Amino acid sequence: MTSRAILSYMSGVPQLVPEDGAQKTFYLETFGCQMNVHDSEKVIGTLVQQGYRQVETVEQAGLILYNTCSIRDKAEQKVFHRLADHKKLQAQGKKFGVLGCVAQQEGEKIFERAPHVSLVCGSASYQNLPQMLVELEGVVAREIPRPAGKGAGLRDDASLKGAGWLTTEGKREGRKREAGSLIRITGLDDRQTDKCFETEFTARSNPHRGYITIIEGCDKFCAYCVVPFTRGKERSRTSESVLAEARQMADLGYSEIQLLGQNVNSYKDPAGGFGKKRSFAELLAAVGEVPGIKRVRFTTSHPRDFGRDIVEAIDAVPALCDHVHLPVQSGSTRVLDAMQRLYSREQYLERIAWIKAAKRDIAITTDTIVGFPGETEADFAETLSLLDLVGYDSVFTFKYSPRPNTPSLALEDAIPDDEKARRLEVLMIRQREIQKKRYQNYVGAIVEVMVEGFNEARAQWIGRSSQNKTLNFTAPAPAALKAGQYAQVRVTTSFPNSLLGELVL
Ligand code: SAM
Ligand code: SF4
Repeated sequence: MTSRAILSYMSGVPQLVPEDGAQKTFYLETFGCQMNVHDSEKVIGTLVQQGYRQVETVEQAGLILYNTCSIRDKAEQKVFHRLADHKKLQAQGKKFGVLGCVAQQEGEKIFERAPHVSLVCGSASYQNLPQMLVELEGVVAREIPRPAGKGAGLRDDASLKGAGWLTTEGKREGRKREAGSLIRITGLDDRQTDKCFETEFTARSNPHRGYITIIEGCDKFCAYCVVPFTRGKERSRTSESVLAEARQMADLGYSEIQLLGQNVNSYKDPAGGFGKKRSFAELLAAVGEVPGIKRVRFTTSHPRDFGRDIVEAIDAVPALCDHVHLPVQSGSTRVLDAMQRLYSREQYLERIAWIKAAKRDIAITTDTIVGFPGETEADFAETLSLLDLVGYDSVFTFKYSPRPNTPSLALEDAIPDDEKARRLEVLMIRQREIQKKRYQNYVGAIVEVMVEGFNEARAQWIGRSSQNKTLNFTAPAPAALKAGQYAQVRVTTSFPNSLLGELVL
């Protein structure tokens, strides 16, 4: 199973060329948020560029990667269960790598807990993946023919040592170390890193709508959250580079773009010199004006940095979607203070009032946490009353999960798990009632959807509205719809989480 590879330097980065002609294969499973999903698209593109082929099962793969999430304990444990489940495959020469937030959080401790893991790499170090992969495969550096043209050929090991990664066989170098017969490689960065993972090789999984990361990391340090520790400090891309990527995507046929960041609206354009400096709202509007782009979404917005100019941009630019995701976490100012969220219930509701005053009907969704240490029954009642006041279109609710390094670990008055579970259920039941009413309002309306696919079993098309609602619909038999197309649908029936309708011809 362990085939050897040799090195080539096409395009200036080391690439693996299998010595025995067998193509290197990898399996990648992604856990967690959209940022992770998009990071995985970049990692997949990088691996493919390195000569690997993606496969669908661990059994088919030579390299098994997990892009991990540590936002809650459950997500973290899932990864260790997966690693344990597949440990026996190591005997077949398969290699294992842990990427993402658990990698950054646990670092080399992962090797102790799962000794069959060879690679541990946080998101700020993905740009080093090509070198790390070469090292992981135990490369034998030897000359291969230089193809005609620039930049091809072979560098010797010495040229790589500066990068800190590689590569004489069996020798300790950079952050590589060997334990028994196992190679162990770590790519971990400290919080102050300026590194961002930008690559031209992103392998977007959907040909019609795609993500663009505009800001990485987080400087907010909410008392419960690991993100500032796992994803580093806030660092924004220039608006020019974001717009260049948006134009490129439009040229490739994408019509929907989702701008991503842990706090997308904390965006600060680092443009200098002749580059135009844009605020987040200006960038949003500029992406919405790229020819060919019909829909722009953005997530996640932090209430503290949510300005009126965002609502004004949505009103002014038709391509900006009628949807704002604005996580509140709690309806109680006392709990918000303890969470270090940097806004009060009243300030949050002021932002909701701006959104509701828009000319367009903007759907509002949120995240809440129940059972934060010290949350009383009265605090929880304030969260329920906030749900009623806002009338959310959807709510993601989580039980508070104590996380390593976070300030809330030191707080007293932990809420027992069964009480957290009770509050979670109460909240979900309340929200279901709210959503039932919200969704009923659409019956009879004609809504534009982007077609996402066809459900054979139900003989229904699946579409998504600008408000991010799922709309399943029927169409006369010969209707030749395609994924990525836009269609007008009349809503006939509502459910708490979706709508049903028929194509308007
Ligand atoms: N930056 C966004 C914000 O400030 O709202 C949220 C990003 S976080 C990745 C996504 C959601 O995970 C949060 O909104 C919060 O509700 C939830 N979350 C984060 N840490 C948590 C914890 N320790 N326990 C439970 N839920 C948590
Ligand atoms: Fe986590 Fe708070 Fe940063 Fe959001 S703003 S990523 S919840 S620390």
